[in-house]
Amino acid sequence: MCGIVGYLGKQQAAPILLDGLAKLEYRGYDSAGVCVYNDGFCVSKTVGRLMNLSSKIDGGAALTGHMGIGHTRWATHGAPSDVNSHPHIATNGKIGIVHNGIIENYLSLKLFLTEHGKTFLSDTDTEVAANLIEYLYEEEGDLLKAVQMAAKQMEGSYALGIMCIDRPNAMLAVKKDSPLIFGFGEGENFIASDVPAILKYTRKVVYLNDGDMVDFTADGATFYNSLGEEVSKTPENITWELSAAEKGGYDHFMLKEIHEQPKALRNTICPRIKDGRVRMDYLTLTEDDLRGIRRIYIVACGSAYYAGYHGKYILEKICRIPVEPMLASEFRYADPILDEHTLVIIISQSGETADTLAALRQANSLGARTLGIVNVVGSAIAKAATDVIYTWAGPEIAVATTKAYSTQLSVLYLLALYMGDLMGTLSTEEYDAMICALQALPEQIEQTLTAEKLAAIKDMAYDCRDNHDVFFIGRNLDNPTCMEGSLKLKEIAYVHSEAYAAGELKHGPISLIEENTLVVAVAGVEELFDKTMSNVKEVKARGANVLGVTTENMAEEICKTVDRCLLVPQTHPLLQPSLNIVPLQVFSYYVALARGCDVDKPRNLAKSVTVE
Ligand code: GLU
Repeated sequence: MCGIVGYLGKQQAAPILLDGLAKLEYRGYDSAGVCVYNDGFCVSKTVGRLMNLSSKIDGGAALTGHMGIGHTRWATHGAPSDVNSHPHIATNGKIGIVHNGIIENYLSLKLFLTEHGKTFLSDTDTEVAANLIEYLYEEEGDLLKAVQMAAKQMEGSYALGIMCIDRPNAMLAVKKDSPLIFGFGEGENFIASDVPAILKYTRKVVYLNDGDMVDFTADGATFYNSLGEEVSKTPENITWELSAAEKGGYDHFMLKEIHEQPKALRNTICPRIKDGRVRMDYLTLTEDDLRGIRRIYIVACGSAYYAGYHGKYILEKICRIPVEPMLASEFRYADPILDEHTLVIIISQSGETADTLAALRQANSLGARTLGIVNVVGSAIAKAATDVIYTWAGPEIAVATTKAYSTQLSVLYLLALYMGDLMGTLSTEEYDAMICALQALPEQIEQTLTAEKLAAIKDMAYDCRDNHDVFFIGRNLDNPTCMEGSLKLKEIAYVHSEAYAAGELKHGPISLIEENTLVVAVAGVEELFDKTMSNVKEVKARGANVLGVTTENMAEEICKTVDRCLLVPQTHPLLQPSLNIVPLQVFSYYVALARGCDVDKPRNLAKSVTVE
């Protein structure tokens, strides 16, 4: 999920690798390393900041050589540590690699390779890839062929920079579902995860396609497609400057991360579904333990709490177990009643949220089963919980969460399906329908993010920028979606907004509705559509300006009542919140822009809240 740089040319490689990695720091990372070829592989790697690595190798001066690969790691398999950091060298020292992505079938490959004499020092999937390439190279005697064969055997995502001890003047790179570019220099060539890493040296860049491989020296490069056929590539000339390039051409990290949601969901969902079934065999909670659960708490803060609030509806509906979502700061002092039949699910993007961590420790000490849903591998919550399911959203830079939130929801769906299946509370048809719907979600999110849809939301947001008080209303699963939509608007656009269960409106807040008050009505639960529309009519009658969010199939109905409408594709009813939230994220983003706010770094807020 992080950064790769490779260099081959007339200059010393190590300082260029360090400089390139520094330009990729914005992608987030937990450790860094380089490997330079000099009559052998010289490796230096360390957990923590790039600065640590740089001082360890004297800004690069300590590692001499003209060919090298560098990496900033964002751990997915194995905690951040020196030994898990990249580059990884295969057992017989013939292959050195850096890797970006996830090798999904690494366990079965590891077993095979162990049986064939390979040994492993780290917990990473990457070391498996290094050994697979070495094994095939030893079998075939041809590196290109070995890498092509390995690419066919590896499932998942990878961008790989590969050096071979027998090729002192050549490097290979291959990619699938993780970004990789090739940069043409004068008497030197580069690979990198992203343009900023090499922009100082060249603007002539080729974006590699999935399945592409490049074999290059300092003076030339040969490209191959996924079928192993040689192909020619014409470089693009990069015209952006560094600051824009870091955000992949988007104006803000938040917008970039909104657009990364389909990929983040694919990464989180796909590896966990095999042959149409959710696999969670790695949990230490046994099937019997799960069958014995009588009550679930979902404990979190902020957006993660709203993801957890959805979890209540989803888990209760599917597993028929009572679920209570609780704010971590409240849970701690509520004297919760916990025992070994209680499952406490802890949700946190960073895995370091102070209140959430304290709640987890309390739950552990009271004998509950604990399960963390976190985005940062090896974080405090990941370590302290009995079990952990990672969201593979990749590093999230914008303070206001989007892709981490979406992946938290998707893990709750997976967990509910897994538990529902064990408990026998779900019919086969229902299970299969949800699996299909889950797999289709990433593509449906893409459909909500077309240029046309974004332009329409932008127009609405600019029209609404002067509203001072906004009400979000929705029923059932739409209620937590409203809470999250309202929080987004507060966080980044500094607009006072409140989320109410639509039926609760008339019990108080309706007194605040006056001429032109903006009400965002989310009506995504089909069976409650008419009820929500009644509430919409109540506020319309009092002069409100209503923005409706619903599914395409209900477009005609809603348009009769509201002033403006945002439509999303329809999915399985329990999964609908994953789609409904997307236009609300985009709406907040554009309201914030229209109001001149600093979208990525909103005032008074921190990304990881490590104080109570
Ligand atoms: N899956 C690999 C690991 O955990 C690579 C992670 C990355 O892309 O940084 O080491």
